[in-house]
Amino acid sequence: MPESPKSKDPDRNAPRRPIREFLRMFRSYGTAIGAIVAATPVVTKIFDLVPYFESHGKTLSFLGTFAATLGAAILFSLRHRIGAHLFPSTDRVLLPEQMRVRARYTIVPFLLGILAVGCFTAWQALMEESVEQAALDFATVSTDDGKERRLRAHLDELAGDVTDVPAKLRFGDQSLAITGAIRTVVEANPPMRIESVRFLGQDAVRAVLASTPAPEIPLRWWIVLSYVVMFVAATMTFVWLGLMEFAQERLGLADKDLMASPFREAQCLEFTLDRVNVVGSSESDAARELVFKLHLSVEPGRVRLLQGPGRPLCAAHDRRLEPVGLAPGERRWLCRFSDEKGKTQDHVIQLDRDNRDILREAVQQARIHLDELRRLHADQPEPG
Ligand SMILES: [Zn+2]
Repeated sequence: MPESPKSKDPDRNAPRRPIREFLRMFRSYGTAIGAIVAATPVVTKIFDLVPYFESHGKTLSFLGTFAATLGAAILFSLRHRIGAHLFPSTDRVLLPEQMRVRARYTIVPFLLGILAVGCFTAWQALMEESVEQAALDFATVSTDDGKERRLRAHLDELAGDVTDVPAKLRFGDQSLAITGAIRTVVEANPPMRIESVRFLGQDAVRAVLASTPAPEIPLRWWIVLSYVVMFVAATMTFVWLGLMEFAQERLGLADKDLMASPFREAQCLEFTLDRVNVVGSSESDAARELVFKLHLSVEPGRVRLLQGPGRPLCAAHDRRLEPVGLAPGERRWLCRFSDEKGKTQDHVIQLDRDNRDILREAVQQARIHLDELRRLHADQPEPG
């Protein structure tokens, strides 16, 4: 029995089950997923250097992982749209707008990376500030009469120009070598009070982190925000880079092809129509020309029209003109432009020919220009 063509490529002809698709996609995303998984313990390790409040730890880890996974899932679901903007055309000649959008999409992972680093820095600064404030709020100090008092209350009593409290402070059941200081700047108007705690050892920091109850953590919402955004941004950076690889692979674009022939902007050919006269314009100087644009992919032996001629542009403002109407006898075009102050303004151009005729003639002219170009490039040799 002859082999049916179906069984020759089981991968291609297998029924497209969602789980199969998902696994295929996952295999393609291997690099990105690997990077995310690899990054998690590294990031967690970094947290050990400046540990988080113990009462907060589980919530923070859950929230960070949940938000990062959610962010990754959202990006996965948008993979086709992202891919379409990154690789709008397999032959790599793009319209100016496509080129701009592609540049924006290419830069996103770098911006996400900068955001992640920024959030990490902010998070460290917030943690330092928070630990210091927590120490002031929860540390107790043994006073001369043998009683335990809250550090803040003790500092309030001692408030002077410059006061240092070099005492051993107690935090929970631990005795801490931290120094509280309070300073009232009398010259300033209004007088300013500066409170600070100097930690003389890592044990003191650890004790503060271990003993502060969750609802009392100073700056806790900012800490949560910077932690979650850092995690989400870092994950999305990797996923986005993975999506770029995935889209390129799916389109069958090899790295060497992209290096040999990178994405480039289409050539633009501008032309105007002969025998079209402007009879009136709402602008002070009446002479306004209509410009048509063709966007072309020009290669030896091959000239292709990518876009055009479409609607004409106002030569004065480089804005696309809209016909007021296309009915016979309608000869007005509307140009909407922004003036120097950024305000939107309109001006109307009146021609001596019907709008419909103008558009028809533009198409004919475009054909003539294209034929000319094709003749010009036909006898050029293919690059060897
Ligand atoms: Zn204009």
